[in-house]
Amino acid sequence: MSIGLYIHVPFCIRKCLYCDFTSYPVSGPAMADYLGSLVKEINLYGAALGDEEKSISSLFFGGGTPTCLPAGALKMILDELRYSFSLMEGCEITVEANPGTVDAAGLETLLKAGVNRLSLGVQSFNDGLLGVLGRIHSTAQALEAVRLARASGFANLNLDFIFGIPGQTLSDWQETLAQAAALYPEHIAAYGLQLEEGTTLAQGVGRGEICACPEDLELMMYRHAVEYLDNCGYKHYEISNFARPGRECAHNLVYWLNNLYLGLGPAAHSFIGGERFSNVPALDRYSEQLSGGEYPVEARERLTVEDEMAETMFLGLRLTAGVDLNLFHRRFGRRAEDVYRREIEGILKNGLVEINGGFLRLSSKGLPLANVVFREFV
Ligand code: SF4
Repeated sequence: MSIGLYIHVPFCIRKCLYCDFTSYPVSGPAMADYLGSLVKEINLYGAALGDEEKSISSLFFGGGTPTCLPAGALKMILDELRYSFSLMEGCEITVEANPGTVDAAGLETLLKAGVNRLSLGVQSFNDGLLGVLGRIHSTAQALEAVRLARASGFANLNLDFIFGIPGQTLSDWQETLAQAAALYPEHIAAYGLQLEEGTTLAQGVGRGEICACPEDLELMMYRHAVEYLDNCGYKHYEISNFARPGRECAHNLVYWLNNLYLGLGPAAHSFIGGERFSNVPALDRYSEQLSGGEYPVEARERLTVEDEMAETMFLGLRLTAGVDLNLFHRRFGRRAEDVYRREIEGILKNGLVEINGGFLRLSSKGLPLANVVFREFV
């Protein structure tokens, strides 16, 4: 079976005020050290894995900000991956980019290196709200990044957005989405802002200096996105993701279908060989362990069949198509309706899910209450 491969690039020009991802300030020596260590990790897995596990169906450079690295460095990583792994025909290769870090020459280099999907973290087309989030880019830079991506020849573009930003009105969000749809990207992701503990934004809200977006307003924004993007020809295929026909993100589908993936780089997560494991987040420890010829893994967990079944249920329910009950039966030799009889009966009775055509899926009532449904399977 092929796998999805994730490469974590842990550098950003400046920390956004809501961000709790693993990222470090841009620094030439740190980036050179990271690149050397990443190549060691690629070679380590390249030598250890079997042919099937080295067959890559999707590749995703995330972060951090992968485009903080020179485009030539991303090309070098791709060359190393082609040497140690096997990128399948038609492999989706995505690079996440901050609109403040792209230029025409860099985008052309990425395209020539084989990158065929660009994911731009636009977040909002409102400069005031970008300021609240602490983003480094402006609306004008985001629009220019989209123009440059198209001019360079990127035919598969995702734009990421956030709603529920403190101070954001429903009409701000409607304007942002209208501008997004007018750019005709192949894919749009719209996430409600999470106030992660310890972030500057969450601390500001905790001290009462910043007003969090009211829950009912956030729900209205979500419902608007679902309805508006559907009217614009985007299929709502996952709780927060919308795609033109055939443009669903192949890499993220690997996660939601609970298929196999390998994550390389500090803090990257993997699910392969019956284990879930995660890399150390600290850049110095990541490099030290690889210098000693060790895997930079911090925590490993061997999954039981029960764990894997539960994860297949709550990850699959993120998809609007839902969990394919026949596929579940083939994969585990047991029917989900039997394993989770009590849980499924309860959420069916509450109208949070429905069964249709062999799929168990969230109902329109259950969509905004997805976390309540997921808890049934944890
Ligand atoms: S660009 Fe992304 S990873 Fe970097 S600080 Fe901002 S949200 Fe976090």
